[in-house]
Amino acid sequence: DPRLEAISAAIRVVPNFPKNGIMFQDITTLLLDHKAFKHTVDIFVDRYKDMQISVVAGVEARGFMFGPSIALAIGAKFVPLRKPGKLPGKVISESYELEYGHDRLEMHVDAVEPRERVIIIDDLVATGGTLSAAISLMESQGAVVVECACVIGLPEVKGQHKLKGKPLYVLVEPS
Ligand code: 5GP
Repeated sequence: DPRLEAISAAIRVVPNFPKNGIMFQDITTLLLDHKAFKHTVDIFVDRYKDMQISVVAGVEARGFMFGPSIALAIGAKFVPLRKPGKLPGKVISESYELEYGHDRLEMHVDAVEPRERVIIIDDLVATGGTLSAAISLMESQGAVVVECACVIGLPEVKGQHKLKGKPLYVLVEPS
């Protein structure tokens, strides 16, 4: 798919951000490139439009930049999965491991119904810890996670093994 090359080319790599030794994959430059941004959304929409998905869940913050466009195009609702303390209603919370320490994701309990079919979207998967927490939130409400979808997958970390057996769909690997 030639669109994938345009997507790859639009992602900026920033060495030593946010700290030494990290090659940060910056998707804000993808958002600046209308064609590549549209290709990204289109590929996900083509994949999910006929899969009876009623929920697109986006992981704060960069999952919010792709998820709503996909949700609108496939006729699904968008559910934000947020960092602690941001959501005003009744929430459920799930911790996950970071390289140093841990963090939490939260979701409104009334955002999904049991048996709803969900895809979870984020910009990038590394260890898979973040997506695993997102899967747990959805499953705790009885929703069915059909797939996790990311623009970028870091191959060396094998996030797939952490995703509770859920399929992972990624568009590009870092060049
Ligand atoms: P994981 O939980 O899979 O180890 O890390 C994935 C999370 O970290 C995602 O929410 C993602 O936004 C963020 N992340 C880690 N490294 C990068 C990076 O190089 N670029 C971007 N855009 N996000 C990153």
